[in-house]
Amino acid sequence: MKYACIAETKKGARCRRWAVNGNSFCSQHAKVKSVKIASPPDIILLKIRINKKWAKRFLEAGVSHTETTPQEEKERNYLLQAKKLRRSPSRYGKCISSGVSVFGTEGLSKVWILSALIELLKKGYEITNLHIEDANITLQKNSSVLNIMHNLVINMEKGEKKICWEEEMSKLLGDFLPVCWGFVHVWANPVRNGKVIHSLNIAHREPDIPPKLRLKFSNGLWNFSPYS
Ligand SMILES: [Zn+2]
Repeated sequence: MKYACIAETKKGARCRRWAVNGNSFCSQHAKVKSVKIASPPDIILLKIRINKKWAKRFLEAGVSHTETTPQEEKERNYLLQAKKLRRSPSRYGKCISSGVSVFGTEGLSKVWILSALIELLKKGYEITNLHIEDANITLQKNSSVLNIMHNLVINMEKGEKKICWEEEMSKLLGDFLPVCWGFVHVWANPVRNGKVIHSLNIAHREPDIPPKLRLKFSNGLWNFSPYS
């Protein structure tokens, strides 16, 4: 399992090298006496892949649908930022990035995410926005579109006002979130417009199988422990 070094670089971003076995630092930061640890995020975006059925339920409960930033535009921004930070945009293969994929390109599988959400709430992060956007993928079979997937995007910010919602929404989230999630990718992005944003890409809701890992926020460094 790959894990990103927890040090902060001089430009204020999390180090992109891998931590060496049994250490939280890469081989270079392990040699430095007083290392600055990567700053916790100001904003956390949980982007949870959902199918049409769940999208319908959330829309009916009052969640709004917003336009997605086109993939090309996102990539242009990542490229610009990577250039500014003198980082390789293809550090993690095909996907263009300027940030750090905390758990490597594979990410985590079979994850219980509620543990991290509870930790975030305890640390003073509030859910400040909830919306649905179209995911930038379309599943196709025999060239006919089978299903257009969506993302449920949950914004969490520290010290900001909690979004108000009906009791129904709490029930719906209570139904939706506490299950095993097939894949979780955590991205720690460099500071942009004065804010550090971490993005969690979460997919494959698997209510019938037991989770293996418990996701931990760990003050923005992110980690995991065995589920049981
Ligand atoms: Zn490092």
